[in-house]
Amino acid sequence: MKFTPEKYSIADERMKPFIDPLEIWDYLNNAVPSKQKVREIIAKSLAKQRLNLEEVACLVKADTPELIEEIKEGAKTLKRTIYGNRIVLFAPLYIGNKCTNDCLYCGFRISNKDAVRKTLSDQEIVKEIEALEDNGQKRLILVYGEHSEYSPEYIAHTVKIAYALKKGNGEIRRVNINAAPLDIDGFKVVKAAGIGTYQIFQETYHPEAYKIYHQRGKKADYNYRLTALDRAQEAGIDDVGIGALFGLYDWRFEVLALVRHANHFEACYNVGPHTISFPRVKDASGQNLKTNYFVSDEDFTKLIAILRLAVPYTGMILTAREPAVLRDEIIQYGVSQIDGGTNIEIGSYAEKIVQERNLNRGQFQINDDRPLNDIIDELLDQGMIPSFCTACYRLGRTGEHFMEFSVPGFIKRYCTPNAILTLAEYLIDYAPQHTADKGWNVIYSTIDNMEDENMKASILEKIKQLKLGKRDLY
Ligand code: SAM
Ligand code: SF4
Repeated sequence: MKFTPEKYSIADERMKPFIDPLEIWDYLNNAVPSKQKVREIIAKSLAKQRLNLEEVACLVKADTPELIEEIKEGAKTLKRTIYGNRIVLFAPLYIGNKCTNDCLYCGFRISNKDAVRKTLSDQEIVKEIEALEDNGQKRLILVYGEHSEYSPEYIAHTVKIAYALKKGNGEIRRVNINAAPLDIDGFKVVKAAGIGTYQIFQETYHPEAYKIYHQRGKKADYNYRLTALDRAQEAGIDDVGIGALFGLYDWRFEVLALVRHANHFEACYNVGPHTISFPRVKDASGQNLKTNYFVSDEDFTKLIAILRLAVPYTGMILTAREPAVLRDEIIQYGVSQIDGGTNIEIGSYAEKIVQERNLNRGQFQINDDRPLNDIIDELLDQGMIPSFCTACYRLGRTGEHFMEFSVPGFIKRYCTPNAILTLAEYLIDYAPQHTADKGWNVIYSTIDNMEDENMKASILEKIKQLKLGKRDLY
């Protein structure tokens, strides 16, 4: 099955810049969101067809409470049918905050003299990872500032440390990266270390706005950043994550641009981005922002629902930048991955004594600092299956291959069993009794509701083996 959106040919895509602000504003200005049109678009998405930019613009412009409710309901239904009730959990690990750029919103910016600069030593990385493994984490995203110290070789070195460290039943099975854009050779080096997703956020897709926020350093080059993940693809990394930092420019524009970016990947590589992120700007040490574009909770919820409808097969990540109450609410509209037990002050996972929060040690303010187990508790209360699954990527199901498999039913068929098995491992190895009781209830009632008897039997057999001490079954 091909995912190439109707409008773009590969030749077109390779020849011209793929973000055209005037084109995006035309779509937005010309959209007429009648009730009938919006309903047809939601129905198209529920039939698992990709929406074009005109249709996405129509959803963005729909602003009556009734239609917004229908968009949210549509997203909720789509999420349930494609992803089942699982949520993948991960933790960010900041390796170093030296940075030669001067992004006005970021605590790591070079001109912030209050930032406490630090790069973890290898021993400190080991301690952080031990602490994360002791908590039950299996999936990490390593984060770096942009600095000559954080070369591709260094990034690869830190990834290898994470994979190598096994302590008891603890192990990191997937390491994703959020770091500066690299050249093709650089991407090859990090790929060889076995990374999962390489994430780069464009921050704002509007070139003029981009200039205002990024005046110094390598990141001032909008096009170099915009084409970064194409270089990653050229280097063989077919698992890439895109994102926009909401609050820098009009959210409506950014939503269309994210979809346009996804279309670009589908047209050129026949594989969309693995994930889309939509961080909202939060307070940061030394922040110097004057913007009228902060996004309200209502618009934030709406934009997540629209992204879900627009790009059904792409994972969507909601981070601990957002407060717990909002995260618990918004997850249902399309989010498939969240971080848990997050601590972004450099070196702080291994600190036994909880320090007072110090904005100068982190990139920005997080607003959900619940321990991992509290988040798992909350997800279980909502009937969801917290998942630490890493199976697809280790079975080579990434990129185009993954897109082909992720067509109807795949995620439910493979991801639900693997979510159950990784949750079972967590319950056996790390959970307190009250969480374990809840977790097993969710597991067994999910298995009871499965129609496929062979699948049921196979999961029950694997659970038996996990209880006997086997691990990493998928
Ligand atoms: N230095 C690399 C870069 O800029 O691509 C790595 C990424 S940075 C450490 C991670 C992401 O955090 C940025 O891409 C940006 O979107 C986000 N970020 C930066 N400052 C933020 C803030 N004040 N609030 C929320 N997110 C922020
Ligand atoms: Fe540096 Fe990234 Fe922060 Fe910009 S967002 S100042 S590049 S760490």
